[in-house]
Order: sequence, then structure tokens, then C-alpha cells
Amino acid sequence: MNHFEYARPSTEGEAATLLAEHDGNTAVLAGGTDLFNLLNRDLVAPARLVDLKSIPSLGEVTETLDGVRIGAAVTLDTLARHPLLAGRFAALHAVIDGIHSIQVQSMGTLAGDLCLAPNCWYYRSGYGLLAMRDGESLVETGRNEHHAILGNRGPAKFVSASRFAPALIALGARLRIVGPSADEVTLLPVEAFFVSPKTDRQGTTVLRPGQFISHVEIPADGETRSATYEVLQTEGLDWPMATASVSAVVSSGVVRSARIVMGHVAPTPWIAHSAAQALVGQRLTEESAASVADLAVAPATPLSENEYKVQIARTAVKRALLRLAEQTSTEGGVA
Ligand SMILES: Cc1cc2nc3c(=O)[nH]c(=O)nc-3n(C[C@H](O)[C@H](O)[C@H](O)COP(=O)(O)OP(=O)(O)OC[C@H]3O[C@@H](n4cnc5c(N)ncnc54)[C@H](O)[C@@H]3O)c2cc1C
Repeated sequence: MNHFEYARPSTEGEAATLLAEHDGNTAVLAGGTDLFNLLNRDLVAPARLVDLKSIPSLGEVTETLDGVRIGAAVTLDTLARHPLLAGRFAALHAVIDGIHSIQVQSMGTLAGDLCLAPNCWYYRSGYGLLAMRDGESLVETGRNEHHAILGNRGPAKFVSASRFAPALIALGARLRIVGPSADEVTLLPVEAFFVSPKTDRQGTTVLRPGQFISHVEIPADGETRSATYEVLQTEGLDWPMATASVSAVVSSGVVRSARIVMGHVAPTPWIAHSAAQALVGQRLTEESAASVADLAVAPATPLSENEYKVQIARTAVKRALLRLAEQTSTEGGVA
């Protein structure tokens, strides 16, 4: 592990300034559950770590005019029990409930999850983000059973590691991004945050050196219902094989608008626009859920060892829709 400075700013502006120094060769420290893993393996070598946990505004969950705002230092454990989230955002709660690692629950954060580096074994073994050798993709010809089945025609074949992104996109969440200068603030829909890189140096998000996520904002309109289904291999320390988060406005039993977002199937969270469009005007039934799930995976282009993931992704979409149907039929459901 390389030597690095440790900085603990107490304001957002100070954090942005500290991150922009050293030519931006710095890293944000939130829970550190994954960052220390990357540092240990020399996969990242920042000159400075900027710890966000002493900035008071980042440790809060607050009510906004149209929903809630969650600080980047709020842990998953706190979110699970927070009264402002109770009975709302079912898609988000399902993800929190699926994380069974006590370490990740008590230290991990939403923003840390969104910025997670891929779990691709080529990347984690030092072959770079795209795992290319002499212009050839090692993934294409090698072990690729956990890699992308959608959006994999470009150089990136890994799957986005974020477990929360599909739920946040389905819920229409935005990110508040601070930096690179101390007073610069940008609001960005979560779906615009992710990048499928064309080069090893591009990274997996739009964040530039000196920028960090200060808050995640989730709107709550009172009529949108949401659900998530994650296909997990084990009940312990684990990442899903495929996930789907869905949201919809349903009135008189008919879907008026819908969003379907799949996770762990593509280098970025995958929004199934045409499948969601096909749901509009329909009732949520076993049959409509199955045919919409077929549409969601129709563009899949599996690699040599991961055809099985197509069926798993299809199942995730269908079951997420059926969970949504349960909520809307009882109508005591949550947004
Ligand atoms: C051994 C191990 C097991 C794990 N098991 C699971 C599991 O079972 N389930 C699961 O879902 N996840 C798991 N994870 C992944 C990870 O712990 C979680 O996703 C966690 O939520 C990440 O949050 P964090 O705050 O600890 O991120 P950190 O480790 O602090 O950061 C992760 C990355 O995000 C960047 N970052 C953090 N916050 C910000 C911010 N506000 N702005 C900009 N960049 C930021 C960091 O610089 C770093 O690059 C595991 C990780 C490891 C190493």
C-alpha cells in the first residue's frame, strides 16, 4: 500500500479544496468498506484520503419540499431505521434488507455504493478496468460467467457493482455533487451518473477529480409505488447475480407510468425503456409481468459463459413486478 495523507474536513467546501489538490490524485473516504480493499491491493494509489464523516451536513437525513435528502456519510444501518424513510421507498428498503454483512450495514453508505469499483475479477487482479491485452479483451475469451449480458458490445464487459443504483433510478433520485471548486454544486439524476468506459483511465462515473457526492435526494410524490427483487447466490457477504427495481403509478388497477431498471447485468445500471412502456395501460398480472420481463431481456447478448444470467435477469424483473402488484392490490403500499 502506498503512503497517503489523511484529511478530515469539517465543511463541504474544505472537502472540495482538499480533493482538488495533488492534481486530483485523491480519494473520498466514506465507510471505507471497499476503498481499503482497493488500497491494500494497490489498485488505487491516492496521495490523500479525504474523510467525509466529520462534515455535519453529510451525516443527516432531512425532509425536503419533494422528498428526502440523505447525506453521504449516513450509514445503511441508520437508513434502515430512520423515521423519515419508514413506510416509504420500498425499492430502497428491499436492497438494504438484502445486505446481510454487518460490517457493510454499519459502515457502508449509499454514495460509497454508487461509486463502487467493479467486482470484476480481472480488474480486482490488476488487469485494468477493461482487461485488454494486445487489443484483445481477456473477458471475451476468458472467464466471463459473472460479466455483462447487456450493453457489452463496447470495451467494458464488467457489471456495474452498485446495488442501490437500480432502486434509486426507479425512484427518480438525484445526486447533489460538490466541486471541483469549493462553491460549485450540481444536481444530477442518478441515471446520468454512470459511464461505460471506453478506456482504462475513464472510470465508471462522471465524477471529475475534486468532485464528490454530498447527498442523495429521493422524491416522494405519494402515488408512486416501487419494488426490488435481487437474485442472490448466498445469504451472507454477497453481491446479487442480477437485480431489478421497478416503480409505477397505478390507478384503478391500471399502470399509468412505469420504470424498470436492472442491475448487475451491464457496465451501467440498465434502464429497460421499451419494457416499461409496454406495461403502461396494462394491469399488473402474472402474464403481463412475464411478457414485460421477456421484453426487458430481449436485447441481451450473453458472453460465452453467462447465458444463464438472461433467465436470472428475466426472473428478477418478473418478481419485482409481482412484488409491486402485491403492494398496489393491498393499496396500503409505500412509495
Ligand atoms: C470484502 C467486501 C465485502 C463486501 N460485501 C458486500 C455485500 O455483501 N453487499 C454489498 O452490497 N456490498 C458489499 N461490499 C461493497 C461495499 O462495502 C458497499 O457497497 C458499501 O456500501 C460501500 O460504501 P462505503 O461508504 O464503505 O464506500 P467506500 O469504501 O468508502 O468507498 C467506495 C468508493 O466510493 C468512493 N466514494 C465513497 N463515498 C463517496 C462520495 N460521497 N463521493 C464520491 N466518491 C465516494 C470511494 O472513494 C471509493 O472509491 C463489500 C465490500 C468488500 C470489500
